[in-house]
Amino acid sequence: MGFRGVLGHEFVAEVVSSSQKDLVGQRVVGEINVVCGRCDLCLSGLSSHCRNRSVVGILNHDGAFADFLRLPAVNLHALPKSVDNDAAVFVEPLAAAFQVVKQVPTLDGKKWVTVLGDGRLGLLVAQVLRDAGCPVRVIGKHLDKLALCEKWSIRSRPLGDIAPRHDQDVVVDCTGSAAGFELAMQMVRPRGTIVLKSTAAVGKALNFAPLVIDEINVVGSRCGPFREAIRALAEKRIDVASLIHRRMRLDQGVEAMELAGRPGVLKVILTMD
Ligand SMILES: [Zn+2]
Repeated sequence: MGFRGVLGHEFVAEVVSSSQKDLVGQRVVGEINVVCGRCDLCLSGLSSHCRNRSVVGILNHDGAFADFLRLPAVNLHALPKSVDNDAAVFVEPLAAAFQVVKQVPTLDGKKWVTVLGDGRLGLLVAQVLRDAGCPVRVIGKHLDKLALCEKWSIRSRPLGDIAPRHDQDVVVDCTGSAAGFELAMQMVRPRGTIVLKSTAAVGKALNFAPLVIDEINVVGSRCGPFREAIRALAEKRIDVASLIHRRMRLDQGVEAMELAGRPGVLKVILTMD
């Protein structure tokens, strides 16, 4: 997005000041789209696509790598005690994972569902699909990540072992790469669905003809329902603790960003105290 400002949009916080006095002292997570409530999209129930929105740590709104963050009260969700701080940090990406189930509501009747990519989002999406009763399989490059799938009783295969056969009902692309989308086009069956969770800019020319020839549904998928993510964490249906690589202080932020960018590192938590 070419954003300049304070980064960070996956956070847990305590409300220290609000005109809504009942919020003060509450432990909260926050939705990241700050919306106008007045544009045509807001008024038609599509406020997460508000034409005038800012997005915490991503677009015209300073983010959470800071001691304090300002957000409208309407964005906040109070947390139950059963969701600890480490888990709460995953509410935002987990909500994005739940959005897949929301956008492809017939998933539970599907036999062949593949998640491409064993990064953090891929591993969250896979757990959410399994939780929804979907027989999901993960394709990834990292054996240690695929071992996590085994721990969760989710089937997985290394990328090198795959021979795409145009036989998957649904392919969820969490690779963040053009190659991932190309593979998804080779794996999905005619009239199947590709869900795109990758927002990485595509740097190479792609041939979209297979989408037309095979009549593929392509579903872009971004932010999702916080309530469902909080409930799933409270009920311990999703394991996020296994994704945490290290905990570092905010004043080690530059080092933490560098660490988080290394291959295989899923999540670095920044602490403010
Ligand atoms: Zn709006």
